[in-house]
Amino acid sequence: MQNDIQEVLISEEEIQSKVKELGATLSADYANRNPLVICVLKGAFIFMADLVKNITVPVEMDFMAVSSYGASTKSSGVVKIIKDLDVSVEGREVLIVEDIIDSGLTLSYLIELLENRGAETVRVVTLFDKPSGRKVELEAHYTGFDIPDAFIVGYGLDYAEHYRNLPYIGILKPEIYTS
Ligand code: 5GP
Ligand code: MG
Ligand code: MG
Repeated sequence: MQNDIQEVLISEEEIQSKVKELGATLSADYANRNPLVICVLKGAFIFMADLVKNITVPVEMDFMAVSSYGASTKSSGVVKIIKDLDVSVEGREVLIVEDIIDSGLTLSYLIELLENRGAETVRVVTLFDKPSGRKVELEAHYTGFDIPDAFIVGYGLDYAEHYRNLPYIGILKPEIYTS
């Protein structure tokens, strides 16, 4: 697995210190409130787990699985709900936890869906952002790292379901997806 990585873009230490920083900011911004924190599976599961350990206000959590990519590395624009939420978002302050925003298509769909279901506020925290990939106008309220237009893996992010368990962010050798 390590042999498939061309370059470590963001180290485990850098990620962990950024997640702590985001947790502190969110704890301050949501002081005296009780947000519903929604993890967008599968990519955000490791970020979610590390992030909530650094949030000091009471939160509830739920999980949603959506798919927009199939096995390709580019968004199709078609968002499919694979697993819906268990709880209602009506009247709730919702915080969506995402791994990465590229085109923005997945998130803009999700935000609209949760607003239509009656959420009081919908905010987004994303660990990674590729601003150059946007197809719709969208900005996260909280962002960990801006990254260049490269396909990254690790820390929850996959290529064809592999590499999610790497503790850092890496760029794959080109021959991995051309083979
Ligand atoms: P968007 O709809 O913004 O184009 O893409 C959102 C989803 O595509 C992300 O939540 C993530 O699952 C996937 N994605 C986008 N860019 C990357 C990337 O560089 N690496 C990986 N592994 N997944 C990505
Ligand atoms: Mg995602
Ligand atoms: Mg994926």
